Amino acid sequence: MIRFHFPIVIIDEDYRSENTSGLGIRALAEAIQKEGMEVLGVTSYGDLSQFAQQQSRASAFILSIDDEEFTPGPDLDPAVLNLRKFIEEIRFRNPDIPIYVYGETRTSQHLPNDVLRELHGFIHMFEDTPEFVARHIIREAKSYLDGLAPPFFKALMDYAADGSYSWHCPGHSGGVAFLKSPVGQMFHQFFGENMLRADVCNAVEELGQLLDHTGPVAASEKNAARIFNADHCFFVTNGTSTSNKMVWHHTVAPGDVVVIDRNCHKSNLHAIIMCGAIPVFLTPTRNHYGIIGPIPESEFSPEAIRAKIAANPLLAHVDAANVKPSIVTLTQSTYDGVLYNTETIKKKLDGYIPTLHFDEAWLPHAAFHDFYGQFHAMGKNRPRPKEAVVYATQSTHKLLAGISQASQVLVQDSQTVKLDKHLFNEAYLMHTSTSPQYSIIASCDVAAAMMEPPGGTALVEESIKESLDFRRAMRKVEADYGDDWWFKVWGPDYLRAEEGSEPVSADWMLHADEDWHGFGALAEGFNMLDPIKSTIITPGLDMEGRFAASGIPASVVTKFLVEHGVVVEKTGLYSFFIMFTIGITKGRWNTLLTALQQFKDDYDKNAPMWRILPEFCAQFPKYERMGLRDLCQAIHLAYAEGDIARLTTDMYLSNLQPAMTPTDAYAHIAQRKTERVGIDELEGRITTSLLTPYPPGIPLLIPGERFNKKIVDYLKFTRSFNAKFPGFATDVHGLVHEIDEETGRGFYYVDCVKQ
Ligand SMILES: *Cc1c(COP(=O)(O)O)cnc(C)c1O
Repeated sequence: MIRFHFPIVIIDEDYRSENTSGLGIRALAEAIQKEGMEVLGVTSYGDLSQFAQQQSRASAFILSIDDEEFTPGPDLDPAVLNLRKFIEEIRFRNPDIPIYVYGETRTSQHLPNDVLRELHGFIHMFEDTPEFVARHIIREAKSYLDGLAPPFFKALMDYAADGSYSWHCPGHSGGVAFLKSPVGQMFHQFFGENMLRADVCNAVEELGQLLDHTGPVAASEKNAARIFNADHCFFVTNGTSTSNKMVWHHTVAPGDVVVIDRNCHKSNLHAIIMCGAIPVFLTPTRNHYGIIGPIPESEFSPEAIRAKIAANPLLAHVDAANVKPSIVTLTQSTYDGVLYNTETIKKKLDGYIPTLHFDEAWLPHAAFHDFYGQFHAMGKNRPRPKEAVVYATQSTHKLLAGISQASQVLVQDSQTVKLDKHLFNEAYLMHTSTSPQYSIIASCDVAAAMMEPPGGTALVEESIKESLDFRRAMRKVEADYGDDWWFKVWGPDYLRAEEGSEPVSADWMLHADEDWHGFGALAEGFNMLDPIKSTIITPGLDMEGRFAASGIPASVVTKFLVEHGVVVEKTGLYSFFIMFTIGITKGRWNTLLTALQQFKDDYDKNAPMWRILPEFCAQFPKYERMGLRDLCQAIHLAYAEGDIARLTTDMYLSNLQPAMTPTDAYAHIAQRKTERVGIDELEGRITTSLLTPYPPGIPLLIPGERFNKKIVDYLKFTRSFNAKFPGFATDVHGLVHEIDEETGRGFYYVDCVKQ
C-alpha cells in the first residue's frame, strides 16, 4: 500500500496548555493518532495566508475556539474574524477539504452563517468521546483524500500498489532488473520504487489505452477537456512539438496552402515539410531588443492573405481568389509574452480558413483567470465559430505541473463542423510511440486536475501577483540607485504601486505607437502582454538599435547568474527572460534580485573574472585576468561594430524568397543531392535544412528558401564573433561546424541544394 502523509491539522492556542481545553484537544489528537492518522498541532494561525497554503498538505482542519474568546455585543469579535479570514483563505483555493470548529457548547451560536456554511461540522467539547469524534473526522478526511486523484492517476496508483507479477514489457519488471547491478541499485534508489512500479506497458488493460483513448485514460482526457473548456482533449507524451504535427497531419494535405506565423516554433515548420504544404507567412513586428511583437491585425484578413498567395512564386499557377488555405497557425504567447485577442482572429478568418490553430505552448494557464479575457483560444461562454474548428496545443510541462514532454491537443467544434475523433486518431497514431510513458500521462491528468477552479485560479493569480511584485521590487531598486544604472523589466510604463493588488488586464494592453514596445501602429484591443513572462533589459542598447558608449551584453549577466544558481529561460543580445510559472516562490525571485545586485556591484568595481566566474574561467582561461566590466565592454564593442541589433532585425524582417517547396528542398537530403557550402559562397543558394540561431531559437531560413545578403552578413558576423569570444558563441542550428585536421581551423557550412 502506498502511504501518504496528509496530517489532520489542529489549530488551538491551548494545544500545549494544562487547562481543560488543552486536555480535551490533546485527547482528541491522541484518539486520531491511535487510528493511524497523523496529526499536526499548532497554537496559532501565525501568518494567516501563509498557513492557509498548507491546505495542500492537510487532510482536514480542526480550528478551536473558546467561549471566553467571545466578547458580548453585536460586533464580531477578533477571534471570530480571525477564524472567518482563515476559512476564506482556505476556501479561496480549496472548496472540499473538511474544516471543523471545536469549541464549548454555546460557541456555535456565536458563529455567523457564512462561517457555519463552510464547515463540515461543529465539535462540541466533551459531548462525545474523543474516539467517536476522531473516527468521524477520519472518515471525512479519508473520503476527501479519496476524491483527490483524477481517473488515470488513481488507476495507476492502484495498479502499482497491487503487487501483481508482470510478464510483459518493460523488461525491468517493476524495477526488479535494476536491483541486480550496483549502478542499477543506484538508479532504483534515486528514482524510487513507485516510479518504476508505475512504469508499465500498454498490455495492462485496467489502465485503458492512450492510443485508443479508452478506460481511465479516456476518462482523464474527458475531465481535462471539461477543465480547459474544450470539446475534446488528447494527451500527448512527446511534447507540443508532436501535438502540432498531429494537428497538421489531420488537417493539411500535400500541395495545400497554409498560413503560418513566420516566428513559429520549428515543429510547425517540420509539419510543413512532412505534409508537403506550401506556406505563406504572416510577419510579426520586432523591436531592436530582439523582442518579437505581434503580427499586425491587418494581416489576418482574407484579402491580405490572398495578396500573399498571389505574390508567392510557388503559387504562380493558382488563382489566389479561389484558393482556400487549410490551416492558420499562430504562436499564441510569443516567448516574450505577447498575446492576441483570439475572438478578433476567429471572426476575421471564420469561413475562409477551416482550421484555426493556436500554438499555446506557453499559455495553458490563461483559461483559469479572468485577467486573460479573450486573449487565449478557448474560454467559458465564448461563441463558437460558424465553420472553423479551433485547436490549441499546450505544453503542460512549460507552465503547469506536467513533467517534461507532457502536452495536450484541445479541440473546439464549430457550429457546423464536429471533429471526427476516429479520423483525428489516425494522425495521433502516426506520431505516438506504441510504448507511451505512463508517468507523463499521469502528469497530464494531475496537471489538469490541479487547475480546476478555484484552486487553479488561485495558482494563476499567485503567479501573476508574484510577477507584479517582482516588477515593483525591480523599480524600487532602480529608484534607490537614483541616476546610477540598473536593469529594467520590459513592459508598460504604468505599474500599480500597491503590493499584492489585483491584476488589471487594461494595464497590460499594447496601444499604438507606445515607446516601451516599439511595435508601431497596433490596432486597439488586439494585443496584451502576459506579465508572468518577464523580459529583463540590460543597459547598452536603445529601442532604435543604437549602441550606447558602454553596455552590458545579456550573455555575460546570464553566465554570472548560472554560477550563482539562477538559470534563466532564454538569453538575447541585451535582454533575458524569466518565467513566473505556478512553481514560482518569493524566495526564488528574491534570489534573482540579489544576484543582479551582486552583478552590479562586481561590474561597477570591475571585479576580476577569475574571482567572480571561477568555473567559467577554468573552462576558458582567456578571460581569467579580465575585469567583468572590461569583458562586457569588449563584447559590447564587437556588437556595436557589427551593428548587430539592426542587422538581426532587418534579417528577420527581410523578404525571403522560396525557390522550391520545403518538402522538395528537404527531399534533396534523402536523394543525396546536397552540397556543403561555406558561408562566403552562400548568397543565392537554397537551403535544405532549417537554419535556427540560438538565441532566440526562431528559424531564420526554411528549406527551399534562398540565402540573401543580410543573412550571410549575419553569419559572417557570427563566425568572427564566435572566434573572438569562445564561451559566448551564438549557436546556429543548421550551421555545420567542421575543424580542419591539419590546420585546426574551424569552418562553417550550410547544406544546400546541389547545383
Ligand atoms: C516549446 C514550444 C513548442 C514545443 O513544445 P515541447 O513541449 O517542448 O515539444 C511548440 N511551440 C512553441 C511556441 C513552443 O515554445
